[in-house]
This record gives sequence, C-alpha cells and structure tokens, in this order.
Amino acid sequence: MTQEELFKKLIAHCKEYGFVFQSSEIYDGLSAVYDYGQNGVELKNNIRRYWWEAMTRLNENIVGIDAAIFMHPQTWVASGHVGAFNDPLIDNKDSKKRYRADVLIEDWIAKIEDKINKEVEKAAKRFGDSFDETMFRQTNPRVLENQAKIDEVNKRMVAALEANELAEVKKIIEDCEITCPISGSRNWTDVRQFNLMFDTKLGSVTDEANTIYLRPETAQGIFVNYLNVQKTGRMKIPFGIAQVGKAFRNEIVARQFIFRMREFEQMEMQFFVRPGEEMKWYEFWMEKRMRWHKSMGLGDEKYRFHKHEKLAHYANAASDIEFKFPFGFKEVEGIHSRTDFDLSSHQKHSGKKLQYFDPETNESYVPYVVETSIGLDRTFLLILSSAYTEEKLTKEDGSVDERVVLKIPAALAPVKLAIFPLVKKDGLPEMARKIMDDLKFDFACQYEEKDTIGKRYRRHDAIGTPFCITIDHQTLEDETVTIRYRDTMEQERVPASKLREIMAEKVSISSLLKQI
Ligand code: ATP
Repeated sequence: MTQEELFKKLIAHCKEYGFVFQSSEIYDGLSAVYDYGQNGVELKNNIRRYWWEAMTRLNENIVGIDAAIFMHPQTWVASGHVGAFNDPLIDNKDSKKRYRADVLIEDWIAKIEDKINKEVEKAAKRFGDSFDETMFRQTNPRVLENQAKIDEVNKRMVAALEANELAEVKKIIEDCEITCPISGSRNWTDVRQFNLMFDTKLGSVTDEANTIYLRPETAQGIFVNYLNVQKTGRMKIPFGIAQVGKAFRNEIVARQFIFRMREFEQMEMQFFVRPGEEMKWYEFWMEKRMRWHKSMGLGDEKYRFHKHEKLAHYANAASDIEFKFPFGFKEVEGIHSRTDFDLSSHQKHSGKKLQYFDPETNESYVPYVVETSIGLDRTFLLILSSAYTEEKLTKEDGSVDERVVLKIPAALAPVKLAIFPLVKKDGLPEMARKIMDDLKFDFACQYEEKDTIGKRYRRHDAIGTPFCITIDHQTLEDETVTIRYRDTMEQERVPASKLREIMAEKVSISSLLKQI
C-alpha cells in the first residue's frame, strides 16, 4: 500500500468510526473545517490532558490560563499580525487554483531531495556493506549538482521572503520551471501578500473602529496576562504559562485533511526567562518536547528537528519538531525563542509597564520568552496515521482474515475497556454490567452484547480499544474473566477483582508521564 493510499484509507476510517467528520457535511461541507465525532473527541481530550499535565503538573514553575478568543484589536497591531501575518500567494491562470508561493518552491526542493535519496539508495544496493553514505553524498557528481541547485534556490527564497521581494519569488518559480499540479501549465499571476486573520465586528455598529479578529494564535492571550499571573501566582523567573485553545487562520491552501485547518487548536507554553539566558532554555525545551513526543512510543525514527533558516519577525532562534506523516516529514510543533519582542511591543502599544523585578539581581527588565507551540489536531493526525494498521490473520482452518486495528497508545485510546458477556443469557449480561459499574468510575468503558465475540473484537480493534474483557460461564463459577489484548490478540484469564489494578497500570496517563 502506498502512503497516499494509506492516507485515503485513514480519512475514510476516521469518518466511518466516528473520529472526524467534515463540517456541515449535509450542506456539502465547509472547506478545511472539521468536526470531531464520538471517538475523536475522546482521543483529542486525552491528548490535550497528556500535554496539559506534562506541562503544568510535572513543572512546578508552569501554570495554566484560559484566555478569550477575542482580544483588543491593538493586540494584533502590537504582535505584528496586522502588518505582517501574510502568506505570499500565486494563482495559476489556467486552473484558477491558488497556491502559497513558498510552498510551491518547497515542494520543488522536496522533489530534488527525493532524486538525491533515490541516487543514494541505488548506490547503497550496488555497493552493499562497503557503502559509505556520507562519502557518497560528498563526492558523487549528480548528488552534488542537485544539492547545489537546492542550496541556491533555498538561499534565493529566504532572501526574497525576508526582503518581501515578491517579484523575485515569482522569478524563482519561473526559473525552476514549476508547473501547476492541476493544469500542468506555467501560466502564473504575480505573487501577492494575503493576510491570514479572520475579522468580524464587535457590537451593533459596523464601522472600521469595531473590527476585531479571531485570534490566529493563542500566545498573545498569555503575553497580555503575564504580569497578572506573575503577581497573583507569585511566580519567579524562570516560569511558564500554558494554554490550550482555538486559533483561526484563513489558510490559502488548506489540504491534507486536519493537517491544515482554518479553525484549529493549539497547545502553547510561553516560558519567561532572564535576557541572555534564552538560548539555554531554548535548547532545554527542544529536548524536553522531543522526549514528550517519543514517550508515546510511536517510533523515534519518525521524528526529527528542522532548524528555521528564515526566522519570523519576533524570533532569534526557531526549530520545528517534524513527524513523518504519510505525506512526508512535516511540522507538528514549533519551539521559538521570541526574545522580548512581544512584551516590549505590548508595553509600547498599551503604555503599561510590563517589566519584571528580579529579586535575585535587584533589576527590572522585560523578560525574554521561549515558546513551545504544538497543534492539537496535528498531534491527533500523527497518532492516528501511525496507529492505523491493516493485518492479515491466518485462522485455525488455514483461511485468511483481515483486520484494521488502531494501535493508539493505550493511555490515549478513546475507549479503554470493552466489556462483553459471551452470550445474552444465563445471567452473563448482569454479571458483565456489575463489572462495568464497578470499573466505569476509573476507566472509559463500553458495554457490548450484540454479534459474535469475533465481530465485537473487530469493532473495538477499529477504534483502538486496547483491552476487551469477556465474561463467560466460568465467570459465574470462579469470578475470573478473559482479557484480550488488542495488539497481540493474546488472551489471559484473570480474577475480575484484579482488573482495576491491572488496568490502572496499563492505561493511566501517569504511566506515559513517567516516561518523559
Ligand atoms: P505551517 O508552517 O505549517 O503553516 P506555522 O509555522 O505557521 O505552521 P505556528 O504558527 O508555529 O505554525 O503554529 C504552531 C503549531 O500550530 C504548528 O506547529 C501546527 O502544529 C499548528 N498549526 C498551525 N497552523 C495550523 C493549521 N492551519 N491547522 C492545524 N494546525 C496548525
């Protein structure tokens, strides 16, 4: 199965099993807006909780807030979003499709990188064990030629975007002979800037002065509250403020399912530090956030860092944590050293002092900020895309069966325990209900008595339930039940009275937290 096929199947699976639906589907949907279904919302809540507790519970110097989506319009002038939150866009005149110019160029670079990798793979096969990849990359003429092309285009793109030279961005697209993926033509418009913020009106009078924005990031709600929290919480630098909430961006190219949405959720933490110490904390959070990701056990090799060449207007260092999605390595989280840009700018625009008095140095200063910013929806997609597995199973009679199983980390799964009476009679449903009534206070349980046990297993495999508990006639005699494990499909007979203890260890978020 190609990665593209896998991704299509995953999207269909998300709909069929109540994870993600297209928004307003009965009206043919709203582009790049999605709703989470009955299983999706549970998974999303669990991811959110895992992040929240990793930030606030495990770090005594990090507290949370929940700021409003609407903020004073001056906020977005101060943050630079009114002036500079733009994407360079370009239209193809034949297909009438709109693209982000920088993404077109990045896709072109990725294609050349692919060529290089294929060249390396071919050589690795040819030379076998004696193959020295580093040496090959440094000396092979074709690899060097392609790498030089990439470096040149990358350099030109970064310079053009930084200087806002849109004609040069178009020239790069022309020079690379980039064609529209739909029409195949090179008939491009000029490159223009497009502001990504949604605006609306406050109150009943609709004049310019009442324009407010839907926040494009949650960070600013933290910045404007930093002194409130610092003073009321008696926080000492270094300290952090965490927040989870909706953000809105009028993305030009919204594709790849919930990877790029117009309404999405961010989990952000701003860490306030002494000026001059930001690089130390930037390194610290890069490492710590990577550990959080890897603790989910989805495969360490699926993650990598990507250092930003082109820095945003507020940053003096920035890296992304990228994950290997079915459509390639893509950003899931950004770690940014934002300097004192935001706080100083809010100080200037509001006229209010935002300085911190440091009792250790007896100095007042505007703190520097290191932020970690992760997309909740992208994390959801990352987990599902690595969890989705199709397996062929050989049955006892030699025939082959198939199953789709979501190998979601047990602590994050929407349903933790499925509880089945073997048959709908002989007092088994009553016994199963009794066990469920005892466990439901601690775990998300689901009771099912319809269909054969095999079918019930498949249904729960498909939503990622890690444990199915079956109550049979033996249970009535000795109060033992069978646990069937999702990933191995092995079964184990245990006393019902031990279930809570066994499960607590396997499905609790704290077991994940301990691995960070
Ligand atoms: P991209 O380059 O993919 O547009 P970004 O660099 O603009 O992302 P940030 O502003 O750093 O993203 O936002 C932090 C995180 O928020 C991203 O790493 C991503 O996980 C998430 N995010 C940003 N934009 C979207 C979106 N349109 N849909 C879903 N998640 C998003």
